[in-house]
Amino acid sequence: MSELTLEWREAVKSRIEKILDQQPSKNPGTIRLGRHPDLCDILFPNDEKISRLHAEIFFNCEQNSFYLRKLPEGKRPLIVDGEIITHGEVSLRQGSTIILGETEIKVVAVFVDLAYGLICPNIKCRNPDKRRIVDPKHLLEGCPWCGTSLAAAQSFHRS
Ligand SMILES: [Zn+2]
Repeated sequence: MSELTLEWREAVKSRIEKILDQQPSKNPGTIRLGRHPDLCDILFPNDEKISRLHAEIFFNCEQNSFYLRKLPEGKRPLIVDGEIITHGEVSLRQGSTIILGETEIKVVAVFVDLAYGLICPNIKCRNPDKRRIVDPKHLLEGCPWCGTSLAAAQSFHRS
């Protein structure tokens, strides 16, 4: 399971929220950020510059990445790593900074599930031009191209 961790200061203490790729939420498929208690999953009660329904975060399985999108109801700018996001969506990386209202949210950790395949450890299969990714079902029998054991193989993830 993939996971994104956000941290920000609220009043005098810091607040941490973790978002999972398949987390149940009020709007299925996305985690909404804002000030409306019935519509949002992550609430910012102390920041009046944040709209009732300001932005949402979701996991894109094809890109294997978490994304942030501004919602039409978000009245004030949404800024990610210094860029104002007016439409479309932006991928979130570890270390990204999101400015929502007057709150600065840091993406402190991004964990993307690596269980998509195995990288054959044999140097002949690790040529960067044709790095061979093996389906995990071959774990016991070894690499289908060269027969090398996959017991210590690293997992592959799309980046
Ligand atoms: Zn191989």
